[in-house]
Amino acid sequence: MGMPGVGKGTQAALLRERTGLPHVSTGDILREAVRVRSPVGRRVKGVLESGKLVSDDLMRELIVERLQRPDAQEGFILDGFPRTEKQVEVLDGVLKELDIVLDGVYVLTASEAEIVERLSGRRVCPRCSAVFHLETRLPSAPGVCDDCGSALVQRPDDTEAVIRERLRVFADQTRPALESYARRGLLREIDASGCPESIARELGQAVERA
Ligand code: AMP
Repeated sequence: MGMPGVGKGTQAALLRERTGLPHVSTGDILREAVRVRSPVGRRVKGVLESGKLVSDDLMRELIVERLQRPDAQEGFILDGFPRTEKQVEVLDGVLKELDIVLDGVYVLTASEAEIVERLSGRRVCPRCSAVFHLETRLPSAPGVCDDCGSALVQRPDDTEAVIRERLRVFADQTRPALESYARRGLLREIDASGCPESIARELGQAVERA
């Protein structure tokens, strides 16, 4: 968990390499639905562009369907879910059914100024979701994804006005969800202001300790 742009996607991808567990990013699932113009994609396009959250009911359907797939039966890395107190309840229900005990919730932290700086320079691959940055993580060839060769794009919600809205939504709706995990003693904070590799080391150690 963590503010938009704090590095959840990057860290979850690194953790997937280390653990072999599938990386379940609700943001990627929703963006793919928008890209292929599925019925869900048409419903959520405007919501994603505004920086607000998709409804808890729709998120419940999407996450239940995703976690029932065969590759998720041995565990999974959730990125961007849960984001509200209601979604915490949904996840509790899903985990109970799968007979999985939640042993750690990791929150990446960084200052708001750093977040805005990171998100404004972020460029992403619309095909494989790899993440780059105009100053700190340049692709080998300008504007081209290192991993799959697609043209990189700026996410429509990475403009300054929408970034501010996403930060407000985080404070209003996701912070209480985080606090509910803190009360249950599950929350581990990871300082995400350094480089991705050192954050990955700290996160990896925290996961192993858990
Ligand atoms: P992300 O890639 O995690 O920053 O998500 C991009 C956008 O997708 C968010 O700003 C929301 O509009 C939507 N989204 C992703 N995950 C969720 C979620 N768990 N609940 C509601 N909306 C979500």
